Amino acid sequence: MRYSLTLMALLALVLGCSEAGGPSLTRAEKALIEGSGPVMRVLTIADKDDSLFLREQSRDFSDKDLKSNNFQTLATKMVTTVTDPSEDGVGIAGPQVGVARRIVAVQRFDKEGDPFEVYPNIRIESLGGEVVSGQEGCLSVPGLRGSVPRHTWIVVSWKDPSTLQTVRDTVEGFTAVIFQHETDHLDGILYTDKADSLYTYSY
Ligand SMILES: [Zn+2]
Repeated sequence: MRYSLTLMALLALVLGCSEAGGPSLTRAEKALIEGSGPVMRVLTIADKDDSLFLREQSRDFSDKDLKSNNFQTLATKMVTTVTDPSEDGVGIAGPQVGVARRIVAVQRFDKEGDPFEVYPNIRIESLGGEVVSGQEGCLSVPGLRGSVPRHTWIVVSWKDPSTLQTVRDTVEGFTAVIFQHETDHLDGILYTDKADSLYTYSY
């Protein structure tokens, strides 16, 4: 028993060393990324399988995958999907397009021109300021809106895909709310879990 545990620990160490970041993209993930049209299908809680998938824990990308065409394609398609008139959102996370990886696209309302930016291997490092409730909706939870308490500022970190360096930014206000909502998706959390009230909404 002792031997097998040691062996497993050693194996994990070797696997960990061979792969900087998370495990490589699977064949199924690559097929989904490359096989979809420019607008990817958005998973919703209305579907049972989708609903279970949205509760999964997302994994980091490996350094090799961050440098790949698969990653660039996914980043581009996520922005195309969230900005498509059929969705018209302000943020989207990997699991919402069927890829359980730590990636979000967020509209930066705190930057000139409100650009969409993509952040891989993202984490919230700290949360601060007041906790204020504001209205939220989610592309994966159609027909609902809710009031959700969120921190007014956060520090996020992610890995720059070109330099592979960890980058940090302090974000405030509504953009900080979007980051909190989207990174929750990567931990299988939906805003409805945190809402202090919910109401139906027709688009
Ligand atoms: Zn959402």
